[in-house]
Amino acid sequence: GSPDAIPSDSLREEYENLADLVRKYRFAYYQEDAPLVSDAEFDSLFRRLEEIEALHPELVANDSPTQEVGGEVSAAFAAVEHLQRMYSLEDVFSIDELEAWLNRAEASIEKLGDGAARAAWLTELKIDGLAVNLLYRDGKLVRAATRGDGTTGEDITHNVLTIKEIPQQLEGGGFPAEMEVRGEVFIPSKEFAEFNEALIEAGKAPLANPRNAAAGSLRQKDPAETAKRPLKMFVHGIGAREGLEARSQSETYDLLKGWGLPVSPYFEVLESRADVLAFIEKYGAQRHKLLHEIDGIVIKVDHFATQRALGYTTRVPRWAVAYKYPPEEVHTKLLDIQVNV
Ligand code: NAD
Repeated sequence: GSPDAIPSDSLREEYENLADLVRKYRFAYYQEDAPLVSDAEFDSLFRRLEEIEALHPELVANDSPTQEVGGEVSAAFAAVEHLQRMYSLEDVFSIDELEAWLNRAEASIEKLGDGAARAAWLTELKIDGLAVNLLYRDGKLVRAATRGDGTTGEDITHNVLTIKEIPQQLEGGGFPAEMEVRGEVFIPSKEFAEFNEALIEAGKAPLANPRNAAAGSLRQKDPAETAKRPLKMFVHGIGAREGLEARSQSETYDLLKGWGLPVSPYFEVLESRADVLAFIEKYGAQRHKLLHEIDGIVIKVDHFATQRALGYTTRVPRWAVAYKYPPEEVHTKLLDIQVNV
């Protein structure tokens, strides 16, 4: 129907049922680390919800799943307010949709003036793990939290302290007074396969997939349990940053790397759209040969000034997009692992 048609009772009912279902699946995924359906199925339900809302904006309530960053704070953890809000990502599911997104973004950037320098794209792998927010004060790690609903996360400091490659004290000097480093905690593919083999040999049930295993590992009540899991992290963002001298996200990564934080070996800064599409193709072809599982590619505006000018919706940044690869059969056996740098 057209955007101004009054929704029929059956559409209203479909909408309410769909919203409830999405809430239920989110709860199982985020709170219980035990999804009830595949990501592809979840994504298509979410997409349908967005379609109905686009046709009937009057149905959109403040508590619609499309208006919120998924994930609440479990009572098992202390609640932590992030200094700066954390967001989700807008998804696109085809190259056509990505091109349409890039057209819109480039038009908005054009309007800001001073085009060329502002249009550089930072392309990254979309790591399938759990987002964490690390708070450093004068170079010292003082707190770690999950994303939660974006405003409030769960305090998982004790568990994060067991992850060796997350520095408790940064190296070097010139640290910002206060800095939130955001990244994804994951279990590398090779370690996941080995961990599962050991579980099977011990007569225990294997973990379902690396994403839920990483999330479940970080949200253990007992840090000694977390310490047994082969967790790693790659940085993919920055929140509050008092006194950080950097003009772009890639420049920030260079600083963070110098201070000993784990920056992904896979990111690139690309000037042209053709290069962005080539990046997607390159990693699509070798997605199961990387250090970790990925479910897509993230394309971000690199410059902070442009990021600020484009801003955010209630759920996602307007300066970034996630391209999701088409769903495929799950591979259970990893043939070879390589780092591509
Ligand atoms: P998302 O996972 O699509 O995107 C946002 C997140 O991506 C960020 O919070 C961050 O943690 C992560 N990320 C990974 N690499 C990144 C990078 N390089 N840069 C920036 N961020 C990066 O969003 P979401 O809101 O967390 O959840 C939606 C996802 O979860 C979908 O993939 C959906 O299929 C899945 N999900 C599945 C179920 C289910 O029942 N199967 C339920 C809820 C959500």
